[in-house]
Amino acid sequence: MAVSILIPAPLRRHVGGARTVVVDADSVAAALAALAAQSPELKRQLFDDAGRLRSFVNVFLGDRNVRDLAPAGDAIPVKDGDVLTIVPAIAGGAADGPTLSRDEILRYSRHLIMPEVTLAGQKRLKQARVLCIGAGGLGSPLTLYLAAAGVGRIGIVDFDTVDLTNIQRQILYSTADVGRSKIEAACERLTQLNPAIEIVPHPVHLASWNVLDLFQEYDVVADGTDNFPTRYLVNDACVLLGKPNVYASIFRFEGQVSVFDAHRGPCYRCLFSDPPPPGLVPSCAEGGVLGVLPGIVGSLQALEVLKLILGLGDPLVGRLVLFDALAFQFRELNVRKDPGCAVCGAAPTVTAPIDYEAFCGIRGEEAALDATGLPTLSVEDLEARRRGGETFDLLDVREPHEQEIVQLPGATPFPLSELPAHLHELDSARTYTISCHRGARSLEAYRLMRKAGFGRLQILAGGIDAWAEKIDPSLPRY
Ligand SMILES: [Zn+2]
Repeated sequence: MAVSILIPAPLRRHVGGARTVVVDADSVAAALAALAAQSPELKRQLFDDAGRLRSFVNVFLGDRNVRDLAPAGDAIPVKDGDVLTIVPAIAGGAADGPTLSRDEILRYSRHLIMPEVTLAGQKRLKQARVLCIGAGGLGSPLTLYLAAAGVGRIGIVDFDTVDLTNIQRQILYSTADVGRSKIEAACERLTQLNPAIEIVPHPVHLASWNVLDLFQEYDVVADGTDNFPTRYLVNDACVLLGKPNVYASIFRFEGQVSVFDAHRGPCYRCLFSDPPPPGLVPSCAEGGVLGVLPGIVGSLQALEVLKLILGLGDPLVGRLVLFDALAFQFRELNVRKDPGCAVCGAAPTVTAPIDYEAFCGIRGEEAALDATGLPTLSVEDLEARRRGGETFDLLDVREPHEQEIVQLPGATPFPLSELPAHLHELDSARTYTISCHRGARSLEAYRLMRKAGFGRLQILAGGIDAWAEKIDPSLPRY
């Protein structure tokens, strides 16, 4: 009788890597003996010195354990085409994983009763280690849902403090947390939510020198960062270490989600090969974001993390989902792996993490201005020189709805969106000082005006926000 024996992964090396071995036998014992005859090591793994099947090895005939079949032992007959499955206890696998306490079984009961999760899936969640980059708008729903779902170790990278402008969307925090370190407040909140898991704070600025060591400790990285230097650093480190990167980003009314896993598909660089130049893409602080949007997009991100851990469904590998909240539209784009990708392609040029801070210029706006040598004026200088009697042609390139919030004294509103159409109203022989909210749009206005022939320009470093912070604290900040 030809009987197929399915070989479990840990034993395959004893049979030349085969998943299935077909033997000729008329009983279960004869089939196992024929298998054991292929390798002395395999024989030792399956049988004890007395020739009995080892207690930690189970053999199934069809879907039934042969230990449960009568007659026991040698005499269990097999038919042509029967399938035997060897199931050893595997250290680290579901058979020998963590245990769940009575409280945990009750806590996760709505998972446990789903055939797609079960006790084995919940144990996998408990064993999983997920690193969340950023504890802001996306990181809030992400970490809350991962903690609630029972992900055993959640690392959080963040070095910000909670401010009042965060509370509109960062639901990890309450008003009482304003002024506290985000990571401290997040750890407290998540531990309250689920004391059965471990929350690991990483209050560091992610950089090329620490990113690999940090990521090494985790199975999945979830990128909820709000700036390009970190986004490229996270992508490259994940590719270099072979870790999946569950990516999400938001801006105003739109969100993006994907899973970048260079083993199976494209990485972030396959999609966007290089960071945008400084000032071209506004940050959330510059462009704003509707409060509920990160809740939706961060929840999608949490969903993809849980699916990866549980091995469920189709992950968003090779697909980029765009969500337009105003149109209420989800669109899905296919993303191909780029054979020429600088980090995951055939001949990678990025072979170590890179610090992009110097020229990405989203967070480090002032540093970028200095680095590129653009003429800037500090708010302190502006104030002092005005007091000394100097006059300035100040252009505030923020949009009208922002002018309603707060105005820079003596500035002429000149919205960036209308700047090209109204440039002719300005005199290119004059010196203009450009201001915006924090600096990024001033840079864009500067470029536009330079191109149009304006030679005497300077940027008010830090914009109205720096003015309100350093010169006139009575003004509202946003
Ligand atoms: Zn790539």
